[in-house]
Amino acid sequence: MAKISINIATGSLQQAEMIVGIDLGTTNSLVAIIHPETKKPVALKEHDSSSLVPSIVHFDEYGNASVGEVAKGFLETEPQNTIFSAKRLMGKSYNDVKNNAGFFTYKVIDDNTESLVKVQVGNQFYSPIDLSSFILKELKQRAEHILKTPVTKAVITVPAYFNDAQRQATRDAGKLAGLDVLRIINEPTAASLAYGLGLEKDDERTIAVYDLGGGTFDVSILKITNGIFEVLSTNGDTYLGGDDFDRLIIQHWLKEIGLTEEELHTNKQLAQTLRLIAEEAKKHLSSNEVFEFTLPELTTNDSRLSTASLRLTTYDFNLLIAPLIEKTITSCSNALKDAGLTTTDIDTIVMVGGSTRVPAVKNAVSTFFGKPVNDSVNPDEVVALGAAVQADILAGNNKDFLLLDITPLSLGLETMGGLMDVLIPRNSKIPTKVGRQYTTYQDGQSGMRISVFQGERDLVKDNRKLAEFNLTGIPGMPAGLPKVEVNFLINADGILVVTAKELRSGVQQSIEVKPQYGLTDAEVEQMLLDSITHAKDDIQTRALVEARTEGEQILTVTEKFLTKNASLISKDEMLATANAMQALQLAITMEDKNLIQTKTEELNEVTRPFAERAMDAAISGAMKGQNIMG
Ligand code: ADP
Ligand code: MG
Repeated sequence: MAKISINIATGSLQQAEMIVGIDLGTTNSLVAIIHPETKKPVALKEHDSSSLVPSIVHFDEYGNASVGEVAKGFLETEPQNTIFSAKRLMGKSYNDVKNNAGFFTYKVIDDNTESLVKVQVGNQFYSPIDLSSFILKELKQRAEHILKTPVTKAVITVPAYFNDAQRQATRDAGKLAGLDVLRIINEPTAASLAYGLGLEKDDERTIAVYDLGGGTFDVSILKITNGIFEVLSTNGDTYLGGDDFDRLIIQHWLKEIGLTEEELHTNKQLAQTLRLIAEEAKKHLSSNEVFEFTLPELTTNDSRLSTASLRLTTYDFNLLIAPLIEKTITSCSNALKDAGLTTTDIDTIVMVGGSTRVPAVKNAVSTFFGKPVNDSVNPDEVVALGAAVQADILAGNNKDFLLLDITPLSLGLETMGGLMDVLIPRNSKIPTKVGRQYTTYQDGQSGMRISVFQGERDLVKDNRKLAEFNLTGIPGMPAGLPKVEVNFLINADGILVVTAKELRSGVQQSIEVKPQYGLTDAEVEQMLLDSITHAKDDIQTRALVEARTEGEQILTVTEKFLTKNASLISKDEMLATANAMQALQLAITMEDKNLIQTKTEELNEVTRPFAERAMDAAISGAMKGQNIMG
């Protein structure tokens, strides 16, 4: 393995090395690099194919995954094992996504808890992190094939509105794919960098980034000063995008042909074909006035289909999508309001996402802001291109660019099962402050041990312990009720202050540490290398520990419930529950994460009907949040 060396003060790599930029999109993903000769960002692609890889994972009957164009071919025909839009599930619990449950055509586990959501395909369970890692692995392999060199380092982009958990999940997916994720950056920031904005030292401006992709829309207002990008506001609609344009076209054609949507649903092959033709039509109309398609090419014996032809003019298309465009403009107006600005304060408008190729979209945005938009860079590559620019800065190739101080290793604390919960990821700019809430695991627990660790491994035993203290005097409450907020603050001198406070009672304690104290450059390097070598084992262990913890919690909760509510439960239910509990207990002693999750799910199925009857608040509270060791 190549030796890497990292400058602790700047976080930059000492040795010139290819770092790729990755846009991990909801619909499409791609990789870009700075071309070694031209020094310009370019998207990677095989000779005549597209640079875009559809963000879709298909599993065959043996559980083998395929990613991209091949997987896209199964969207309508094998919906239950073709996973699209995994990005929407990143860092989410079922409670977060249940209002949009109808959107997913595959099985999203609906255990109604706060624990992270999983997808079930056959008898396998996949976390959104697993699913994203399949996509990242595919991108890594493609890049290696094209560049003919190993690719191990990347900058990955995320939406500006992604929270801490979603960013961490993206980092983990990268790690699982064998990538050292040097930095997670915001998509609008990346898009601005691709236009060269913010790269001049005293460039000061306010930018609106309008991003209309396949399934999501967002607009971000950014302020750049001295090379620092600040997100002033974001707005948008996570269920609005180019796919909705396709759907409107299909509905329009169905009406013309005289077919109902129900009829279409019964013919999966036709649905798949129409979906592809509709997208084709939409793209065609971005640079033509009419689209025409002769149906006889469709193999069908429905007479309504063999006589009709699919036709659409730009005029009709614009009428169809006008209400959706109007919605995005309302979001722009709200984003401005939240930032306390008006359209005249915006210096530059950047267009991102494949759907901004639609001329009516461009016109509407430019009319709203009252100036021309920036659309010269390919809108579905612009985010990846900007990520490559950021990667180049991190590689130290862009000498003029000022690099802020960053943390060389991640900082976090120990949670249930000896897991590392990262609060400040490595490469974060300092000063920085991050807070997260935890709760207790046992009824009446009066103290909580806060153990602070540094490093990239998933189990704290493989990381470096920096400090430990006990938060005492938590008043007696049922498990899950106390709210302990832990804050990590790194000041400009690199000193870490950890504070823990129980919010209901106000008890508080803190400690100060110097994270880099006593660590040599070589040791930091070794810690980074270890985290990559062990990434796969680590993440599997983490998944197993998490499955066990969740299983144990469900057992505890169920047991409590049974003793309290015995009168509400029939003999049969009692017996079925006891059997399911026993099966789960046994599964927990084994090393098979999927088995534990299956048994947890089965216990949930059994108890759901009577739990719903009598779930009381204290018990549901105990299932919420993360737990620190008692
Ligand atoms: P995401 O950011 O969600 O991954 P993309 O930025 O790749 O998505 O945008 C994908 C969307 O762009 C799809 O709905 C696709 O049909 C649409 N699109 C791509 N090219 C064109 C075009 N020429 N005209 C209109 N829409 C297009
Ligand atoms: Mg995108």
